[in-house]
Amino acid sequence: MSSKGVTILGSTGTIGVNTLDVMSRHEALYHVVALTANSNVEKMLAQCLQYQPQYAVMVEEQAAEKLSHALKGDNIEVLSGVESLEFVVGLDQVDYVMAAIVGASGLLPNLAAAKAGKRVLLANKESLVMSGKLFMDAVHDNKATLLPIDSEHNAIFQCLPSSGQQGVTKILLTASGGPFRTRDINTLHDITPEQAVAHPNWVMGQKISVDSATMMNKGLEVIEACWLFDLFVDQIQVVIHPQSTIHSMVSYNDGSVLAQLGNPDMRTPIAYGLAWPKRLESGVAPLDLFEIGRLDFEKPDFQRFPCLRLAYEAHQSGGNATIALNAVNEIAVEAFLKKIIRFTDIPLLIEHVLEQSISGTPDEIGEILIQDSVSRKQAELWMNENSSSRSAK
Ligand code: NAD
Ligand code: MG
Repeated sequence: MSSKGVTILGSTGTIGVNTLDVMSRHEALYHVVALTANSNVEKMLAQCLQYQPQYAVMVEEQAAEKLSHALKGDNIEVLSGVESLEFVVGLDQVDYVMAAIVGASGLLPNLAAAKAGKRVLLANKESLVMSGKLFMDAVHDNKATLLPIDSEHNAIFQCLPSSGQQGVTKILLTASGGPFRTRDINTLHDITPEQAVAHPNWVMGQKISVDSATMMNKGLEVIEACWLFDLFVDQIQVVIHPQSTIHSMVSYNDGSVLAQLGNPDMRTPIAYGLAWPKRLESGVAPLDLFEIGRLDFEKPDFQRFPCLRLAYEAHQSGGNATIALNAVNEIAVEAFLKKIIRFTDIPLLIEHVLEQSISGTPDEIGEILIQDSVSRKQAELWMNENSSSRSAK
């Protein structure tokens, strides 16, 4: 097999770093064409020196200038701006694109990768929540290969039949329940950002860690699964599984339930995405069931985790609602991390904007971006109006 050229969108993030780790274990099979990041020059510089990409993109212009200066003399082209993200996914020498930017900013470059017919390794779930049908159509129309990197969806992908969905009755989407699964429900309003980002099982970026604490992450993943696997929402059952050993399951009409198990380490789904349909050594420690000892399961508590309910409701309302859900969640998480709103304000703010969202599903990218921007403004307005009474400690 000739070496595959890879662009990593969001190379300085948790998924990006894990991707480089897996690739570096197989230097004959994969090489980096382009690395991209938002603003972290120091980390990008270190990655450039180690992996020698052809291109390095810093979205922020000043960051790109700094990087360019630091890389003077090296044969690495430094680019800036969001358009450059689309450029480095579409290059002929790129075979695989790791889509690991966080949030709505991943949408346009991910879509460009699908349109260019690449193998898209999708970690960025937010883009699919925003543009489900449009994105899946772009994948099919351009013969791109879409492989899920989100651990649950990667597990489902591994447990589904290799073609079609013959005999599949249900998807069991596992969730750890995050750090507040057993906390006194009356104290949720006191939760600090530091407590919320401390996930019990996974090491992840800040935004997805807060999403896991509110269980919005699982809500986004329900929507993601519907689009990826062409399922109705009532075919997906969320199962709380605090050990995060089973990454998800597929239930069949003959009574079989297939599960994918492993240590909670994103290098497993990343290696599967890179190697599929083969397998690749990933650096992940073998699973020791004796050490784990037991596997527990619980029903999700919608009262404790209203974000999960909101995600189901949004998906049932249509695309405008899921765009609003995602956009307002991004605003709310950022405001919570900056201590502008409380943890318990996150679902209140999302519900407030969802009540104003219009029905229907936009089928053009321009309409999707407008709905995203309108929802963000509605969220900002709510925060301005409620800031005095609700500001966090
Ligand atoms: P992270 O915060 O660690 O990294 C985010 C990356 O995106 C960084 O490289 C950053 O430079 C880049 N970025 C941020 N804002 C940007 C912008 N406006 N424009 C361009 N680039 C920008 O996040 P992460 O934990 O690596 O997660 C990345 C994505 O993968 C998210 O969508 C997340 O939901 C998904 N995901 C992550 C995990 C995990 O274990 N970390 C698991 C499943 C899915
Ligand atoms: Mg996940």
